[in-house]
Amino acid sequence: SPDYYQVDDLFTEEQKLVRDAVRTYVKKEISPIIEDYAQKAEFPQHIVPQLGELGCFGPTIPQQYGGGGLDYISYGLMMQELERGDSGVRSTASVQGSLVMFPIYAFGSEEQKNRYLPKLASGEWLGCFGLTEPDHGSNPAGMVTSFKEAGDHIILNGAKMWISNAPFAQVAVVWAKDEAGEVRGVIVERGMEGFSTPATHGKWSLRASTTGELVFDNVKVPKLNILPGVKGMRGPLSCLSKARYGIAWGALGAAMDCYDTALRYSKERVQFDRAIGGFQLQQKKLAEMITEITKAQLLVWRLGSLMDAGKATPAQVSMAKRNSCEIATNIARNARQMLGGMGITGEYSVMRHMMNLESVITYEGTHDIHLLITGMDVTGLNAFK
Ligand code: FAD
Repeated sequence: SPDYYQVDDLFTEEQKLVRDAVRTYVKKEISPIIEDYAQKAEFPQHIVPQLGELGCFGPTIPQQYGGGGLDYISYGLMMQELERGDSGVRSTASVQGSLVMFPIYAFGSEEQKNRYLPKLASGEWLGCFGLTEPDHGSNPAGMVTSFKEAGDHIILNGAKMWISNAPFAQVAVVWAKDEAGEVRGVIVERGMEGFSTPATHGKWSLRASTTGELVFDNVKVPKLNILPGVKGMRGPLSCLSKARYGIAWGALGAAMDCYDTALRYSKERVQFDRAIGGFQLQQKKLAEMITEITKAQLLVWRLGSLMDAGKATPAQVSMAKRNSCEIATNIARNARQMLGGMGITGEYSVMRHMMNLESVITYEGTHDIHLLITGMDVTGLNAFK
């Protein structure tokens, strides 16, 4: 794995153990099967309990609720290693840990935490996070999914779109407006009448991760399933900050795999009687890749330290998410070209990463949106509207 500036020295022994455990798992259980699943556009459901066992779901959640009680750098390293395997596998873990377990942990009642967190941590249950709607993507505050109170229940109506894990999820954390127009988090369970999760087909990206809709047709949900601890967009946005942090590390993992693959190939592939790695044009690509990977490693490491100190701002997370996605996308495209015709096949992971990263650069805030967040942060002027 690339480590040009001995970034390894910045990690504790425990962090390296965590990373190596996930790296070994990915090598043994994910890499050999994932290309097939991606080609078939199938979700490898059997890995969910494996990821739970490995501690990839909610690594920063306290152990009392089944989490790992780990620091943010360990969490980041786990996401890096999962995405070295496949962005879809990392997405499954990001959603489960940061978008489902985190809001229940941070904003849930004690009963909700005890009911859901251990089962989500172990992978017995899979969760999903419903924020995006057909007409409200970058502007989720405009959401129209809403509920009315009816005695000790609420009646939920509306629809969510592009929801990772939805078709297989037992539990959905759904963001909807109450009668006062405030955004609230509601835990919806599979089997509730009027709740369905149709799958989204035809994706050319994240093919080994399932995506679907959440449709609510007068779904009767107990009031006890409302997350009591938060109102307004702070709820979903604080979850997104945790997930985006993980993506900043994750996309870097995909970039590392592309770089490693291209470097190896460049030494093996001979044209015009020499290894293609000996040509300046190919060296330029490799030199730029390792430079960008090294810069990004230092950025996410520093961000992790700020997260652990409780000092990271959402805008800092946006910068790292955006940067990692940008460099990973460029590295994947260049690596694919370096592999020539072989680069378009499933013999190598590069084209799969390249296509996956198109989702990673789009979800959890598009590339444009994260740039606007940085712009707003440094100028104090809002360019969104
Ligand atoms: P739009 O918001 O319609 O954006 C279209 C274009 O307009 C983009 O280029 C955007 O950058 C640009 N744009 C928008 N507003 C502005 C502006 N103010 N200034 C300049 N440019 C602007 N959502 C969930 O809630 N849960 C999930 O689990 C989930 N998983 C996903 C999985 C996949 C595979 C994908 C593709 C998406 C997923 N999403 C999920 C949704 C994702 O977060 C949205 O797709 C994303 O936020 C963008 O929204 P949109 O697709 O509606 O694009």
